[in-house]
Amino acid sequence: MSNLYDCIIIGGGPSGLAAGIYSARARLKTILFEKGSFGGQISITDEIANYPGFFEEEEEGRHPKNLINKMIAQAKKFGAEIEHKEVVDVKLDGKVKEVKTSDGTVYQSKVVIIATGAQPRKLGCKGELEYTGKGVSYCATCDANFFEGLEVFCIGGGDTAVEEAMYLSKFARKVTLIVRKDYVRCANSIEEKAKANPKVEIKFRTELLELKGDGIVESAIFLNNETGETYEYKADENDGTFGVFIFVGYVPLTKLFEGKVEMKDGYIITDEEMKTNVEGVFACGDLRPKMLKQVITATADGAIAAISANKYIEEKYSE
Ligand code: NAP
Repeated sequence: MSNLYDCIIIGGGPSGLAAGIYSARARLKTILFEKGSFGGQISITDEIANYPGFFEEEEEGRHPKNLINKMIAQAKKFGAEIEHKEVVDVKLDGKVKEVKTSDGTVYQSKVVIIATGAQPRKLGCKGELEYTGKGVSYCATCDANFFEGLEVFCIGGGDTAVEEAMYLSKFARKVTLIVRKDYVRCANSIEEKAKANPKVEIKFRTELLELKGDGIVESAIFLNNETGETYEYKADENDGTFGVFIFVGYVPLTKLFEGKVEMKDGYIITDEEMKTNVEGVFACGDLRPKMLKQVITATADGAIAAISANKYIEEKYSE
């Protein structure tokens, strides 16, 4: 099989997969690369409740992996190649683009669609990295069951933190939401539910400074940023540990493209047609600055990117 494609898509989250569906359906010879889990951030979500048309009653039916598997099958059905490979280098200037994968293969294409998404932001407190997987987690769906009957702290005051605190309350004995401001900035309906949940306590004006323990989280130092007081929370003797779930936003995964396409604060700048400042290079999904980062906006971006890419190829390659 030749390594010359019409369209190379980097990233297999909802936006990349939607781009794959639209690109392949437009009869572009399309290949998509994903280095980790297909689905991007939704692969670490428990449930998708607000994606239109995706509301099967069965618990299993609502699981994001079903939506992603359907997207993969749909893209393949239209002829897209889907590869589980890491992209390690890109050459985006020039009419023909080059994408190199970790096995050393170089793929060429007429257009590149960047859909590498974003990942959870680190909090930056002492002990965070050391205790990741040993009490610290960024994914309630993945790790909530490890904290069955234990105490859990959720750090952050956005939609994710509050929603995941509610989810964690199904497992944990108690969930304390640690919010650095004196208010949460999530949808009112979610805030009301959290406040009505007897297992969820919200501590405002509070920051996590440090985690300590002997190979596993055993204590945490918090700061009350209103009074300046710090205090230590120690795991209950019978429990020996507790959970710390960090939900403080996301950072775009765009390092590979630094200096190659225009960015602001790591987010790739595009116009409404998902065009970057480089001809033949498009970007879609959570790596763009935008007001609403949801599956629906990611898939919409992906569709627009693929249609723009097709238009670009028709214009550029019929000259
Ligand atoms: P977010 O809206 O950026 O909120 C991040 C939260 O973390 C804020 O409360 C922020 O506090 C806090 N934070 C950031 N850095 C911190 C630090 N170093 N220490 C302590 N706290 C820190 O992120 P998100 O909640 O993940 O949401 C991302 C996007 O997805 C948003 O647009 C959100 O609306 C959307 N979303 C929607 C839904 C839904 O509609 N169901 C669900 C999940 C996510 P400050 O306020 O002090 O900055």
